[in-house]
Amino acid sequence: MKRFYPDSYFHSVWELSPEFFRARGITHVIFDIDDTLVHHSLASPSDEVIALFEQLQTAQITCALISNNVKERAETFNRPLNVFYTYLSHKPQKRAILPFLERFGVPPEQIALVGDQIFTDVWLARRTGVYAVLVDPIGKFQTRFFYLKRALEKPILRSYFKHVGKEVSPKTKKKKSARKK
Ligand SMILES: [Mg+2]
Repeated sequence: MKRFYPDSYFHSVWELSPEFFRARGITHVIFDIDDTLVHHSLASPSDEVIALFEQLQTAQITCALISNNVKERAETFNRPLNVFYTYLSHKPQKRAILPFLERFGVPPEQIALVGDQIFTDVWLARRTGVYAVLVDPIGKFQTRFFYLKRALEKPILRSYFKHVGKEVSPKTKKKKSARKK
């Protein structure tokens, strides 16, 4: 089960900072698009996404996009960002990381992959030596397929949070801390 653990977990990409990556020697960050940066129904990056990319790039951190979605999705989304991207990437197959290694010319240890799915994003990162950052998916899971995937992820998340000393799952945790306030 440990092979599915992310290296770090955050509620959302908005908690990420140049300092976080720099402290870990990471110079290149690959972002999953759907439900990581925006809800999968949104075609374009929000102002917040654009600002996040600018913030990282100003700090000399190279940003890129990876998507298992079709060309048009990734191409349209990338238009205002203008970064290196791949589509139909076949995450979690190891070859999904190859275009990035080739493009960046740095070892996998200097690369992070930020995504919302354990069996695609985290697993790809873990099996290729890339730093795995897991975030909660944006929005509600609208299809049965998504429900099923999340259900399969649950035992791993539970085990991961136990491992890192958090007692509860992200969702429960959010509710609890909200209640405290
Ligand atoms: Mg995703």
